[in-house]
This record gives sequence, structure tokens and C-alpha cells, in this order.
Amino acid sequence: MKNIVLYSPPAAGKGTLCEFLKSEYGYEVLSIGQVLRNNRSMDTEIGRKIIETQDKGILTPDPIVAEALKNELNKFEGKNIVIEGYPRNIDQAKMLDTIFDNYIVINLAVSRKVAMERTLGRVSCNKCGKIYNIFIDNMKPKTENICDVCGETLETRTDDNENSFNVRYDIYEQNSPYILEFYKNKGILNIVNAEVSPEAAASEVKRILGE
Ligand SMILES: [Zn+2]
Repeated sequence: MKNIVLYSPPAAGKGTLCEFLKSEYGYEVLSIGQVLRNNRSMDTEIGRKIIETQDKGILTPDPIVAEALKNELNKFEGKNIVIEGYPRNIDQAKMLDTIFDNYIVINLAVSRKVAMERTLGRVSCNKCGKIYNIFIDNMKPKTENICDVCGETLETRTDDNENSFNVRYDIYEQNSPYILEFYKNKGILNIVNAEVSPEAAASEVKRILGE
């Protein structure tokens, strides 16, 4: 089984796909946020550098992220890995290529319009965690703004606003041509249509892994 770099715009259905890869194939999912948190909690030079930069509110520099990632990859030697949330730019893609072996890239492709509807329509129940979407027919709650399961009032995530969505999608759009080109030239790029549903994307990934 190949390792995977999961590269996608926001709201492409990464969460669903990661769950699928874990349960169906036993993949270990490394999200870069979690990798940094794990390293942060260790009493090492890298851990201290991460704390230092994060506490200043600046982005952790690439070489430090690379070291943190190497530490995590070592922990899971022999397992099949999915990396998600990384790379974000072409330099990171090239760096990752030097420390990650035997991998394919899955790009969940979803247009800005669909990704925005998914993001801005998302409401969830604070009590049971169920997620709904007011723009997607089969994900609407039965009663407007009320959880089907427990009757609680549904809430919007504070970071799900149009502005923050656009910032995230812009970053993706600026960097993706270079990143996708890099992986295409290596012959490891798989573009998966993620417009229909996360479930449809997952079965497409299953087909790719089965080859
Ligand atoms: Zn609920």
C-alpha cells in the first residue's frame, strides 16, 4: 500500500476521506497541526522552537516544520501514512519529497462555489456533534436550525465566515498550480472529483488504491 499526500482546498471532504482511509485500510493520518502540537509537548529543541514561534504568533518556519514531521514519520515507521494539511507551497512540497517515500498524491478537486456553500452552510449541534448543511438538501436539519437527534439549537463555527473562507481558498489557488505541476511531473498525481459528495470521492480513492 502506498503512502498518501492529501492535498485539497478547504471543504473538499478531507475529514471524511481520512476517516475512510483509517477504517478501510488502517492508515495513520498525520495532520500538520497535530504534528506540531505533538512536538510542542516534547521537551526537545524542536519542541522549544515551535513553542517560541507559535507563542509569538508567527508561522513556524519550514525547516522546523520539516524536523517535526521527520520525528512523527519515524514514530510510524512501517505503517501506511496519510499526510494532510501539508504542503501548502511548492518549497514545502519539494522538502516533503526528500523525507517521505513511496507515496501518491490525492487532490480532492472542488470549485470555489461548492466549497463555499459547504463551508458557509455548515451548522452543528454542540451537544451531539452532528453536522448539518443548510445549502445541501440531504444534509439539512428536518426543522430549521434544530438538531434532529437531540433538539438543540444549531450553531455556526466562528471561523466559517466568507472572509476567512476566501483567504483560505485564495492561498490554495495561488499555490496549487505549482504544487500540482510538481506532482504531475513526478507521475504521482491523482485528481479526484470531490464536487458530488465526500462518499463519492472516497469510492474513487478506493479505485485508485486498488490499482
Ligand atoms: Zn444534537
